[in-house]
Amino acid sequence: MRTRLSICLRKKRYRSEAEALEVVFSADYPLRPYRCDRCGQFHLTGRTKGKKTPRLPAPALSQG
Ligand SMILES: [Zn+2]
Repeated sequence: MRTRLSICLRKKRYRSEAEALEVVFSADYPLRPYRCDRCGQFHLTGRTKGKKTPRLPAPALSQG
């Protein structure tokens, strides 16, 4: 997972996954730690309920 530098700078950094997990377990909402390839440390990401998908043409309806 590629992390944008702007996101990296804005997010809180955790030196280890264990440190990040402490926050995950104490949070009221689902979070997931991931290693950032920008800073090499860990950030937390929220699990998105509805994935944002690029607009695609509607699938052709097969009627019969
Ligand atoms: Zn980072």
